[in-house]
Amino acid sequence: MAVLTGKTALVTGASRGIGRAIAQRLAADGALVAVHYGSDEGAALKCVAEIEEAGGRAFAVGAEFGVDGDVDTLFAGLEANLGERAGQVRLDILVNNAAIGGRHGAIDTTTRAEFDRVFAVNVRAPFFLIQRALPVMGEGGRIVNISSGDTRIALAGELAYSMTKGAINILSRTLANAVGVRGITVNTVAPGITDTGKIGWLLDDPRMLAATEAAAALDRVGQPGDIADVVAFLVSDDARWVTGHLLDATGGMFLG
Ligand code: NDP
Repeated sequence: MAVLTGKTALVTGASRGIGRAIAQRLAADGALVAVHYGSDEGAALKCVAEIEEAGGRAFAVGAEFGVDGDVDTLFAGLEANLGERAGQVRLDILVNNAAIGGRHGAIDTTTRAEFDRVFAVNVRAPFFLIQRALPVMGEGGRIVNISSGDTRIALAGELAYSMTKGAINILSRTLANAVGVRGITVNTVAPGITDTGKIGWLLDDPRMLAATEAAAALDRVGQPGDIADVVAFLVSDDARWVTGHLLDATGGMFLG
């Protein structure tokens, strides 16, 4: 029996990138996975199809974050599907992965609208998603919030985005202390630069790529599976004694 057999999981932003890899890994470990997407239903359905072809169970659920009713929309789809497929609305694992704005947020160029949007998607949505999820999460529940190595490494061009990830770090640690009494763990994973198919600006520049790789102790950029594997650990029973932890998954970026 796989380690997550009988468990249900919601992975936000699972239509592509790191979220897709997390969804695929949790499904391979036996969980019934809700593959959340913001706008790209086709990519989410492809992810679901790949999971099913590999023998796993998944369904897609769409909701654009940062707009009124975003969490209600997500939960309506989640509850309908869990009721139908699992016979009850119980969520064991929540991975808050969806986010925007990795390369934006400098102090001199960011507008109020951009600032509000990045906080609405990256902070407000996961906060209220957790608020909705906790009542249907029981003993052994797992929440993993995806942050960023930017919270340790100062990148002025990504200031507003980094601030949202700093908020995620606080959310995880403080919430862990509040819900631990219910047997629920809350942890943070902070990826470094990860090749999700969108870093052509880096991969196509040999000098910049070499400098980036050299800055990491493990001498390469990350792959989505590198992040999915540590999330799989944190949601497993093996991590039952780990909560309020920030796991740096940057390959040892700028260790000194
Ligand atoms: P991608 O940009 O590849 O994917 C983002 C996912 O989030 C997509 O599934 C997208 O759905 C969803 N999403 C985006 N905006 C919204 C929105 N407004 N409402 C709902 N869903 C939305 O992300 P990555 O895989 O690169 O990053 C995943 C996580 O890892 C993020 O939290 C990111 O901050 C963090 N991270 C990534 C790093 C990297 O180098 N890739 C480095 C450090 C941290 P759709 O396409 O359907 O709209």
